[in-house]
Amino acid sequence: MPQSPAECVFCKIYAGEIPGEFLYRDDRCFVIRDINPVAPVHLLVIPVEHYVHSVDASPEHEAMLGHLMLVAQTVAKQEGVYETGYRMAVNQGPNAGQTVDHLHLHVIGGRRLEHEG
Ligand code: AMP
Ligand code: ZN
Repeated sequence: MPQSPAECVFCKIYAGEIPGEFLYRDDRCFVIRDINPVAPVHLLVIPVEHYVHSVDASPEHEAMLGHLMLVAQTVAKQEGVYETGYRMAVNQGPNAGQTVDHLHLHVIGGRRLEHEG
């Protein structure tokens, strides 16, 4: 069963119940560093609203989903990986290894990444 907002680590960070450094924040999303980074730059772009990506997202979320990608671009510039390149990834469901059931966009860079997919 997907985690509810009450037990969701990202909702807790947003609410200040778990410490987190906000690299960016607006009324729709926020950005934190991944606690277990796989590269020198590993950020998570997270919508304020709790939902499990395609399970819960519907057409009214379309603009917000696009917003996440633009914010990823902003923070990639902030972190100095915009020119060298970075990967944006969303892990969706068990086969992709999704561990937190609250949509988030990984922004990974700062080293050469292996190609998968
Ligand atoms: P996913 O596997 O796509 O669901 O990614 C969840 C990510 O959240 C993982 O890369 C975790 O390292 C990261 N994560 C889990 N807890 C925290 C936390 N408290 N602060 C920052 N990142 C976290
Ligand atoms: Zn949540």
